[in-house]
Amino acid sequence: MRIRRTAEESGRNPESVRLVAVSKTVPAETVRQAIEAGITILGESYIQEARSKISALPLPPDPISWHFIGHLQTNKARDAVRLFDLIHSVDSFKLALALNREAEKINKIQSILVQVNIAAEPSKSGITTQEVQNLIVEITTLSSVKVIGLMTIPPYFDNPEKAHPFFDELRSLRDRIQKNLNAELTPDLSLDELSMGMSGDFEAAIAAGATLVRIGTAIFGERN
Ligand SMILES: *Cc1c(COP(=O)(O)O)cnc(C)c1O
Repeated sequence: MRIRRTAEESGRNPESVRLVAVSKTVPAETVRQAIEAGITILGESYIQEARSKISALPLPPDPISWHFIGHLQTNKARDAVRLFDLIHSVDSFKLALALNREAEKINKIQSILVQVNIAAEPSKSGITTQEVQNLIVEITTLSSVKVIGLMTIPPYFDNPEKAHPFFDELRSLRDRIQKNLNAELTPDLSLDELSMGMSGDFEAAIAAGATLVRIGTAIFGERN
């Protein structure tokens, strides 16, 4: 409801913002209830946890889309392509290559987002804004992965409005790269998705153009 209202207040179509309910550390039974309540996209951060949770859940009548949002190691690429429709956290060509190899084996085109460390914080994953375009160009040479947008986790602030400039920056970075690449080698590239915004700052992210908001605490409560 808050997502819909924020989208409308920002002059955006509410349908253009999708909720990824972040269920890391949340037990399967609670996730099942969330699915019954109408959640359709779930986000997980750890491969092992996701694997056991997904297999513990009964298959719902309408398919659930699982997204991977955590840091992904190359040696987990095999499980990742089997479990997830979208991987938000690709930040190296090495990882993209591993995903491509595993996706090819199962005849899948794996959708991915490139994770950008928008404030260049040493503690965070993601590549710098300067490196994003080159990485995307490299990835377009791979036939079994497809980049469909960008993801970021901005610095933490008590006041979410302070995150707003970083969300704006991700959006303009996306617009710039999209334009550069469409003008040159890859006319069909479309970076439609912007994965940004969490429980504390999703409203600012939606105002800045988020298409996927990743919300855990505000749905499931505090994690242990
Ligand atoms: C845990 C997590 C979230 C959800 O955070 P909340 O503050 O609980 O909404 C979103 N994105 C990523 C990458 C996460 O790891």
